[in-house]
Amino acid sequence: MIADRLKKYWRQIAALVIALAVLIALVWYVVENPVSQLFGPTVTQVPLHQKYVALTFDDGPNPPYTNEIVDYLHAARVPATFFVVGMAVARHPEVLRLEVADGNAIGNHSWSHAHMVLETRAHMRRQIAQTADEIQAVSGVRTSLFRPPYGARDFAVIGVARSLGYQVIMWSVPLPRDWQNPPPQVIAARVLGHVGDGSIIVLHDGNRGLPGDRSSTVAATKLIVTALRREGFRFVTVPQLLQLGYRQGAAPPGPAEYDTTARPGTDHR
Ligand SMILES: [Zn+2]
Repeated sequence: MIADRLKKYWRQIAALVIALAVLIALVWYVVENPVSQLFGPTVTQVPLHQKYVALTFDDGPNPPYTNEIVDYLHAARVPATFFVVGMAVARHPEVLRLEVADGNAIGNHSWSHAHMVLETRAHMRRQIAQTADEIQAVSGVRTSLFRPPYGARDFAVIGVARSLGYQVIMWSVPLPRDWQNPPPQVIAARVLGHVGDGSIIVLHDGNRGLPGDRSSTVAATKLIVTALRREGFRFVTVPQLLQLGYRQGAAPPGPAEYDTTARPGTDHR
């Protein structure tokens, strides 16, 4: 009888199931762990001894929240980097143009926020290339930054991204789970406890390329910028942070941290 055998071996079966679950969890952890370099080089934190940080926003454009963030950043003279989802760019091209007009940097975050590890190489290429083309058609920008959705990558994802000329940009500050809409103070505290020189911070102005309430993230952005300014941090885009890293030891750039002349006015949202 099978039931009898199961009874006899239940300890071994249970041990096997647990071992398998641990293995799967371990693999998943490595696949989504932002600082792991196992599958190829990615940028997590730029080694700097100067108080520069990069604010990054994922999953948009997502009006009106993205617009509120862009307007606030403009008023505060803080440049950021927006990792946009292609299908959201197609729906809200005017928001992307606003991001670009303000001197923010743009990164590629795939077409449909797909979990790239589960895609074929051909699909990965299409996810990235289609988004790149949309960004360029809408704004004229050709980005070389890619951030995989969910931070999930393996040899194939990084290989495809690099073969298409991208740098894979992760983050150093643990995700504050702002997409769950906790109070802004909670999001800010989760971020501020982990910021150091050359940190890359991730917030979410969108919801995997779909509409979603991001009012907590909007408010948290203001708290984070205000607090970090008070601590003497300066904000740069990811490309600027990378440049600073390359020029380690050189004098920091002049006061033109942010090009205030880029935006013709504040009333075209
Ligand atoms: Zn995302």
